[in-house]
Amino acid sequence: MTNQLFIYNTLTRRKELFKPLQEPNVGMYVCGPTVYGDPHLGHARPSITFDVLFRYLQHLGYKVRYVRNITDVGHLEHDADEGEDKIAKKARLEQLEPMEIAQYYTNRYHDAMHALNVLPPSIEPHATGHIIEQEQLVQEILDNGYAYVSNGSVYFDVEKYNKDHKYGKLSGRNLEDVINNSRTLEGVDEKRNQADFALWKKAQPEHIMRWPSVWSDGFPGWHCECTAMGRKYLGNHFDIHGGGMDLIFPHHECEIAQSVASQGDDMVHYWMHNNMITINGQKMGKSLGNFITLEEFFTGSHEMLEQAYTPMTIRFFILQAHYRGTVDFSNEALKAAEKAYERMMDGWHRLNDLKASDASSIKVEDYAARCAEAMNDDLNTAQVIATLFDACKVINQVNDGNATLSQADIDTLKATFQTYLFDVLGVRDDSTGGDNVNLEPYKKAVDLLLEMRKTAKANKDWATSDLIRDRLNEAGFDVKDTKDGFEWKVR
Ligand code: ZN
Repeated sequence: MTNQLFIYNTLTRRKELFKPLQEPNVGMYVCGPTVYGDPHLGHARPSITFDVLFRYLQHLGYKVRYVRNITDVGHLEHDADEGEDKIAKKARLEQLEPMEIAQYYTNRYHDAMHALNVLPPSIEPHATGHIIEQEQLVQEILDNGYAYVSNGSVYFDVEKYNKDHKYGKLSGRNLEDVINNSRTLEGVDEKRNQADFALWKKAQPEHIMRWPSVWSDGFPGWHCECTAMGRKYLGNHFDIHGGGMDLIFPHHECEIAQSVASQGDDMVHYWMHNNMITINGQKMGKSLGNFITLEEFFTGSHEMLEQAYTPMTIRFFILQAHYRGTVDFSNEALKAAEKAYERMMDGWHRLNDLKASDASSIKVEDYAARCAEAMNDDLNTAQVIATLFDACKVINQVNDGNATLSQADIDTLKATFQTYLFDVLGVRDDSTGGDNVNLEPYKKAVDLLLEMRKTAKANKDWATSDLIRDRLNEAGFDVKDTKDGFEWKVR
């Protein structure tokens, strides 16, 4: 299989031709959510970015095994080694069993992903289901001399590792920076060096999420799960590891160190990271009052939102930017994305209603080739959308009666939209009412009413003609008279 897909590798800091280790199989691991709160915009961007990659690789003919984990233990409040476990804390506050919290928010996450038309991964492993694999990983690192036991906890020896292998190559940091930037927190006494990170933590008496191990009753460090589960499901070496840029350090840097310290080399061939989102130019954060959940976007129930935004508006907006660029959410930008999505859908609907002529009066470019070229250039989804808008211009020209298209050209355009807009970008036509709703009978009923209106107009029965138009308007339909008849859509 040959392809010309170039992707940006965070590790080498350049675009590289994508070549899987074992064609036609591709192994892809993406860090999933820590399930202790409602899914928000920060979850939408990586899931959509890597959903598009997953879809595009399959479009190219690869067999992709896509692993996206659920973090349900070990992610502590201060990200690294200190503070209460995020899930255990929520469980304590809500007086629930931690796994009830994990299940509840996993379900919420799945609902949001479904709404955003994000395909489920091939495997969705839970950290709590892989404690044994994580303990084995910790033991290997201990056996190789890159970790030490201290007071029942196990820490990674960053200084020793740095002597033999360079620590910090993904994030571009060196050990001194890391030491200087490490906060002094409780538990630091157990560590030989501030930069060391926990592989296994001994559980305090009040800590309820705990498992037995040879070192103590405790729980794995956050970074262990992705190394252990990636290896279990994708092998010692696999193609792609992705996540948000905020995970480069410390999470992914530590994953590389764990991998090298346990098996002698890197597991991952290409590291990919999506950029972050901001809201009105500010980083999203609970303390800034701009923390907006996806459900709040979908319903408009947040004081910063002027209206509700559909999941497809959110998806379209995210895809209008390159995944390595920042995206700033503002009401203005989202309203513009909503209009753009509608314009695109209008183009698609008009394309389906176009009447073919014997020949095309204008040259139709190879839009599919341009979309492929854009995708091959490190997933330039913004360029794919711009190309499809160029195709919409041709469609509108024909629709307005200023040009003609042959059946073959119409079919080619339809195939291009089907492949790139729907299959690869994963945009969904919401006017069809979503899943499992057959709208054909309703469409036929509206068409019938408008045919009757046409007859009424022809008979100069203005009262009936106006009545049909006004009542359809009240019901939420936009009716437009055109040269050959009428056009309608749901507002
Ligand atoms: Zn991870």
